[in-house]
Amino acid sequence: MKDEYRHKGQRRKMIDELRALGITDEGVLEAIDRVPRHFFLSSAFEQFAYQNKAFQIGSGQTISKPHTVAKQTELLQLSAGEKVLEIGTGSGYQCAVLCAMGYKVFSIERQRNLFEKARPLLAAMGFKPDLFYGDGYKGKAVFAPFDGIIVTCGAPEVPEALLKQLKIGGRLVIPVGEGDTQRMFTLTRTTEADFVREEHGDFAFVPMLASRAQDK
Ligand code: SAH
Repeated sequence: MKDEYRHKGQRRKMIDELRALGITDEGVLEAIDRVPRHFFLSSAFEQFAYQNKAFQIGSGQTISKPHTVAKQTELLQLSAGEKVLEIGTGSGYQCAVLCAMGYKVFSIERQRNLFEKARPLLAAMGFKPDLFYGDGYKGKAVFAPFDGIIVTCGAPEVPEALLKQLKIGGRLVIPVGEGDTQRMFTLTRTTEADFVREEHGDFAFVPMLASRAQDK
């Protein structure tokens, strides 16, 4: 695992592309600059790692597009030291970007093999998220409340448990919809019972699935 000069150059170009696509948060762009995305892809895709594309990561899942990662991270609007819960660890790339932002990161993955792969990779990169194998629909009540929750798979609806685990003032960033594309929403908790919902355009995600009866 080497982060070479050419990778750094490709990353800079990708960041210019993210700026052109409307990402303005400099903290997010810096975090993306610090995380070698090619570490999260199999060697067959390494040369494409800095293109704004999703790639297969095994078990029918994909690493999100850099623009999607940047957009969701930007929408969280958190500060260093705050607590964030991610649903769908997948390759671990989005998780690494959240760690690079300085957040206290918790992440849940329902596919055992992806969970097993992401854990040593993130540790080897010096990141220290709390990773869990389980069903993200339930969130992680023992570590709640969270300042932010980010769902990185397309949810058929907004899971009630996740809303309950937000701090007042906290935000859920979630793509909702069951077709080929999902609509990105933020739900900001303004009081114990009230949430402000905003829409942020269409994105494409693999589906959020209920817990598995058994591993494949
Ligand atoms: N954040 C990831 C994106 C991976 S794709 C990355 O940067 O690579 C979405 C992931 O969500 C997949 O790995 C999928 O297995 C996982 N997922 C789907 N439904 C889930 C659920 N109910 N709980 C937890 N993870 C889930």
